[in-house]
Amino acid sequence: MAVLKIAKLGAPALRQITKPVPPETIGKRTFQEFIDDMLETMVHAEGIGLAAPQVFRSEQVVVMECHGEHGFPQTILINPEILGYSPVTAESWEGCLSVDNLRGKVRRPVGVRVKFLDRDGKTVELDASGLYAVCIQHEIDHLQGKLFLDRMTDFSTLTQLEEFEKYWRTEHAEVI
Ligand code: ZN
Repeated sequence: MAVLKIAKLGAPALRQITKPVPPETIGKRTFQEFIDDMLETMVHAEGIGLAAPQVFRSEQVVVMECHGEHGFPQTILINPEILGYSPVTAESWEGCLSVDNLRGKVRRPVGVRVKFLDRDGKTVELDASGLYAVCIQHEIDHLQGKLFLDRMTDFSTLTQLEEFEKYWRTEHAEVI
């Protein structure tokens, strides 16, 4: 396993539309090792989600995991597709391993239904809500070359990390 280099804001890799993974490659050792490397990189960087473009691979792969009360289980999304959104939206704080030192509030649907292949190549349909749904949307945005900054409609909440800790930490926030 290896910790991979993370692409930062401004890297063209973050703005590309990714290609689907050919299903026959999912079982290959090199691909499985790539997933493990992504998981290790995410944990090392203390994030709860990581998409392949963030490690300079233009493929439709996402890894996610978040411990704790509002967390969610380890989830690997390959070629994900959002099938539906909750009509209800909510604002929550987001950050990104590719955007150093900034947090901002983003309004998104509170629930999603998503279809994807798991790391065994099996088709899965999942309903997610809360932080799980926010993270899924944030990560799938990465596969389309989008960052949470693009989803912000009001930059008045854009906050540097030190000020976030000082003034806003009481509200729930995770580094996605
Ligand atoms: Zn991100």
